[in-house]
Amino acid sequence: MKLLSVIVPCYNEEENIRDFYNELLKTEAFFKSKDVEFEIIYVNDGSKDGTVREVKKLHEEDERVHLINFSRNFGKEAGIYAGLQKSKGDFVVMLDCDLQDPPALLPEMYGYIVNDGYDSVATRRVTRKGEPPIRSFFARRFYSLINKMSRTEIVDGARDYRLMTRQFVDAILSMEEYNRFSKGIFGWVGFETKWLEYENIERKKGETKWSFWKLFVYALDGIIAFSTVPLAVASILGVVFCILAVILIIVTIVRKMVFGDPTSGWPSLVCIISLISGVQLFCLGIVGQYLSKTYLEVKHRPIYIVKEEI
Ligand code: UDP
Ligand code: MG
Repeated sequence: MKLLSVIVPCYNEEENIRDFYNELLKTEAFFKSKDVEFEIIYVNDGSKDGTVREVKKLHEEDERVHLINFSRNFGKEAGIYAGLQKSKGDFVVMLDCDLQDPPALLPEMYGYIVNDGYDSVATRRVTRKGEPPIRSFFARRFYSLINKMSRTEIVDGARDYRLMTRQFVDAILSMEEYNRFSKGIFGWVGFETKWLEYENIERKKGETKWSFWKLFVYALDGIIAFSTVPLAVASILGVVFCILAVILIIVTIVRKMVFGDPTSGWPSLVCIISLISGVQLFCLGIVGQYLSKTYLEVKHRPIYIVKEEI
């Protein structure tokens, strides 16, 4: 018998816990025929609703259902990490419990790993239907930007829905960084990944936990975690402005010596000072971002804290 661990991060998903479970069990017959057993790990990320209650109810009925209950909301990345750490399966899959990641794809994904020798099967949505246009616009910009800036490939529209072999999971777990950006980490570890594409599926119940602002911050975190190009930009800006300053000094001196032109007026001065101080603060900000991430890393705080485990 092989074991398939199913990891489901949940934050305020009481309405979806059981629907997800029912949907997942539709693939049970297929996996039974392949001698594969389930282990279902719900990671409760500090929900304020009845998520824990719902999972406990399921556990009463089916002992393959497990619960990792965080002491507070640590974010989805922490949930994924905890799930991966606790999983025992020969294969591990993680997916959202709002049914935006259809469990019905699992048999096909499993086939790619067992028959075609892939190390992981990942999914991406090729459309963004049902999403506010402004969000899609910024998402596209983000992916094109980060892929120019980072050597790790970050796939546009990639979801966190992914089936992996144990070896792949162990590689992910060996990356113990505090600032976790999964979309980058999965690309960074390498291995052979098969991409499955599907149309965006809208959330069945409840609402998305990602506000525009949260996504924006997440995008910045991703860039900082997987690229040091902004630091290089800061240095280049510095060099450019030094060169400009030298030219300006020469022009001013020549103007005074040759044309006897009195260096006139404070407007130009004010413009120069505000421009340069703006650029300086901008560059300092970039350095500050990296410093703050480094600060969080060196503190070695745990990525999550478990209150209860069933
Ligand atoms: N999630 C989580 N912690 C959070 C936010 C979200 O565990 O802080 C879970 C959530 O319960 C869901 C998955 O992550 O199962 C994806 O969240 P959501 O559906 O809100 O994101 P979207 O699909 O809109 O990108
Ligand atoms: Mg969702």
